[in-house]
Amino acid sequence: MMTGADYLASLADGRVVYFEGRRVDVTTEPGFVEACQWIAGTYDRFFDPAPDATNPVFHIPRTAIELRERVEMLVNSDITMSLSAVAFALLTAAPAMASVDPVFGERIARYYAECVRRDVRFAEVITDAKGDRSLGPSKQADPDSYLRVVGRDADGIVIRGAKFHITAGPLAHELIVMPTKRMKAGEEDYAVCCAVPANARGVIQIAASHHPRSDDTRSHPISARTAHPDAMVIFDDVHVPWDRVFLDGAVEQSAAVAHALGLWERLSGCAHLAEVGDLLAGLAQLIAEANGTDRIAHVRDKITDITLYATMVRACFEAALANAVLRPDGMLVPDELYTNAGKYAAANDYAVMVRHLHDIAGGTVVTAPTMADYDNTDLRPFIDKYLVGRSGVSGEYRMRLFHAIRDLTADSWGGREAVSWLQSGGGLYAQRSVLRGHYDIDRAKRLALDVAGLTDLAPAATVRS
Ligand SMILES: Cc1cc2nc3c(=O)[nH]c(=O)nc-3n(C[C@H](O)[C@H](O)[C@H](O)COP(=O)(O)OP(=O)(O)OC[C@H]3O[C@@H](n4cnc5c(N)ncnc54)[C@H](O)[C@@H]3O)c2cc1C
Repeated sequence: MMTGADYLASLADGRVVYFEGRRVDVTTEPGFVEACQWIAGTYDRFFDPAPDATNPVFHIPRTAIELRERVEMLVNSDITMSLSAVAFALLTAAPAMASVDPVFGERIARYYAECVRRDVRFAEVITDAKGDRSLGPSKQADPDSYLRVVGRDADGIVIRGAKFHITAGPLAHELIVMPTKRMKAGEEDYAVCCAVPANARGVIQIAASHHPRSDDTRSHPISARTAHPDAMVIFDDVHVPWDRVFLDGAVEQSAAVAHALGLWERLSGCAHLAEVGDLLAGLAQLIAEANGTDRIAHVRDKITDITLYATMVRACFEAALANAVLRPDGMLVPDELYTNAGKYAAANDYAVMVRHLHDIAGGTVVTAPTMADYDNTDLRPFIDKYLVGRSGVSGEYRMRLFHAIRDLTADSWGGREAVSWLQSGGGLYAQRSVLRGHYDIDRAKRLALDVAGLTDLAPAATVRS
């Protein structure tokens, strides 16, 4: 297993990462180094010196308890632990890939074992540039708008394209590349799934960072700890050896990994958003108490809305675990219906819950003096005097609550999170369409026919038993 120091050293591998026009070293660049340290901390937390020890992030859940423990571990760890969903997606989709050619299944098994041995972290590399969204890959003006195979030789394939919004891409070891959607006949070169080392020749990452520019963690109590870079990842004719190619040309299985990833990603999203819901409720209650508004009817109603939101999201997460399916290979897979319903509801209503919090908290969320202002002895007496709230609530306490709310919901990182919850794991539309595919609409129709007394009159094709 790797220690935190091993992880930091492993990033000095020649990877090409740009930030604001400059090539950067992710282990020293401000805004990246903190995320590296966060990840290194997780490595140290789970490090076990026993020679045959493996990182628990790779342990396959076989019971509901193990699945719950796994998700709780992800929620309480750095972001790259959650991105291990993509390795699980490969395993989940392996039977589908093996149905095309058993060699694909064998390569996935070998690759996974090798990743466990090396104790690596992954990036989920799916979302293509996509050009004109109304057109499929083969109809685009530029054929590289979706990543594709542009060459094959005895040693492997050559891929070209760009993938967008890749969470923590600059901090990962392995980039797991897969099609963003199901490909059609004629789009065989786009039906490619493979693993690319982050430092492979031709891989260029252009990173975006929402890490606070200020060093004062009191003003950014959340993002100073958790903000990490995302990247546009360019594959400029990258050679991938055959043992890292898990699908090539089989359009009928092109969506298998992305679909499996959607499931694992959304389960984790659901669990995270249940926690975030509780955090929003806690912040809303604290600031209402500090402001002296916690007994006002509309404020109480809004806090109740947030608590209902958090509870319903958690209920879907629990239902996804309770109805998990044990596969023939012994892997326990969460229920599709409840996972997608939970992630959809959580993402769809997140903005409303944030609006409630802002409504309750007031405008100081975005105008509070900074902690540097508070450190200025000329200003501090004014802040102490005028930022106080209900009796016993100090100006500093209230100001720091405002900073936490702004950082989580109304600043650079908060904005990133709002878009992230909506779009990551696929947008709302993707979750709705999976939900629709798993909801038992025939049972619902039979129920309705029965209640309406129309069962005997229904046309034969109306319901399937
Ligand atoms: C912070 C963040 C982190 C992310 N992390 C990752 C990651 O790690 N890896 C990764 O691969 N992706 C990641 N994503 C990408 C995410 O999955 C996409 O943002 C999402 O799938 C939407 O794609 P898009 O951003 O290209 O927008 P678009 O494709 O332009 O979609 C915008 C809207 O149009 C709708 N739309 C577009 N085309 C169609 C169509 N043909 N039919 C119906 N509706 C359509 C979409 O549903 C959406 O509502 C991340 C996104 C964010 C914001």
